[in-house]
Amino acid sequence: MIQIYDSLSRQKEPLPEQKKLRLFVCGPTVYDYSHIGHARTYIFFDFFAKYLQSRGYEVNYLQNITNIDDKIIRRAAEENKDPLKLAAEFTDAYFNDMAVLGVDAVTHYAPATDFIPQIAAQTERLIEKGFAYKIDGDGWYFDIAKDPDYGKLSGRTVEQAEDSVSRIDESVSKRNKGDFALWKFSKPGEPSWNTRLGAGRPGWHIEDTAITEYYFGPGYDIHGGGADLKFPHHEAEMAQQISASGIKPEEFVKIWMHTGALLVDGKKMSKSLRNFITIRDFLKKYPPEILRLLVLKHHYRSPMDYTDGLAEEAKTNLQDIGMFVRKLKKMLNGIESRQLPMAPASDGSILDALEDDLNTPKAFADLYSFISSHQKDVWNLDAPVARTYAQTIEHFFELFSIALPNPQIPEKIEKMAEEMEQFRTNKQFAQSDALRKEIEGLGYMIENTPRGPFLWPK
Ligand code: AMP
Repeated sequence: MIQIYDSLSRQKEPLPEQKKLRLFVCGPTVYDYSHIGHARTYIFFDFFAKYLQSRGYEVNYLQNITNIDDKIIRRAAEENKDPLKLAAEFTDAYFNDMAVLGVDAVTHYAPATDFIPQIAAQTERLIEKGFAYKIDGDGWYFDIAKDPDYGKLSGRTVEQAEDSVSRIDESVSKRNKGDFALWKFSKPGEPSWNTRLGAGRPGWHIEDTAITEYYFGPGYDIHGGGADLKFPHHEAEMAQQISASGIKPEEFVKIWMHTGALLVDGKKMSKSLRNFITIRDFLKKYPPEILRLLVLKHHYRSPMDYTDGLAEEAKTNLQDIGMFVRKLKKMLNGIESRQLPMAPASDGSILDALEDDLNTPKAFADLYSFISSHQKDVWNLDAPVARTYAQTIEHFFELFSIALPNPQIPEKIEKMAEEMEQFRTNKQFAQSDALRKEIEGLGYMIENTPRGPFLWPK
């Protein structure tokens, strides 16, 4: 049974019973290139959706794009650009980055500006029900004191919310310091939409609940995002939806999932701290598989301190595994696969760890120990067993959408290796050694095995 840690109940919960799941994950605020911290969150949820599919679930995975926001307007002003154009450029860049990383499980992307009527309608409902109030010349605000459940998700009280207002809209006329804007009246030079609320633009939190309500209704199964979003963003989402629909917090979202931050020197990697490595820059040094492996080797809820050393380690891990699979396959050379009897399943338990709140580090650790326990005897395995092992490992990496290295060895090098083998069999060791050196000089390592020479780029 799959169990997932729920940030609201603060314990592991079984997945909802039905086979169709509605998953919403907060998308990026598009005013710059995405960094590898964003990639951590999106790679994880991509894997999560694919894992659920592999377990027979149909996943309707929705993600918003925050393409109107204070930060976008500020950046556009700095660069003397139109905010919506700037957001469109970075939305495209985000989609490109995700495609390169193999993040492709999202069913619907929903840009906030496509949902202005829904945002305005939900705000109107909150006004009608007495949860929202107007500040002239400023906007419509949510009154957190009206929601008895406010603070339940993040474990804060209304008073604590007042102490932590860094990401909450500033206004001296608010009823409570922690109140947040639902709709901001238009200011010169800012994008604005004419609605019954007055000309203006949405606040940050309301876009998500308007979008999820449009696609899923007032309640749905799983909501994900980075841990930094728990407060104030997700707390605000919950306040809005339960107040607008008169439902209980548990009826809004069944399971809340939060990914730990990717840190640099102990600090969260972020656009505002400017301590970030963009996905694009990372990919100039390493292939996308390395980032996926790096992310998925860590438990999704734990913070993860990024260093280049971690990327190098992931690179070595992947090479070792790719090489092991190539060796297993060499055991099958010249054997027609369908003639082989089936070997008993090799180690199904590797994936069991995933049922326990997606314990990917344990799954990887089990896989490594499985591989290291067979490294030495790989050339003694029976062909059916070698095939099953290779299939097990390949299946594992398919599930993680990580391509194993499968380098092409040039024909010329293969020929040299065959010649070297001939010399060796004929006990012409001087010639064989000379060829080995030559092959190594061309950038390949060569191992003598009972199945002939095994080649791999150095
Ligand atoms: P933003 O564009 O800042 O709204 O972030 C988009 C998503 O990426 C949110 O779910 C954030 O929580 C997540 N995110 C941003 N920075 C990091 C980080 N350093 N580590 C992990 N997730 C992050």
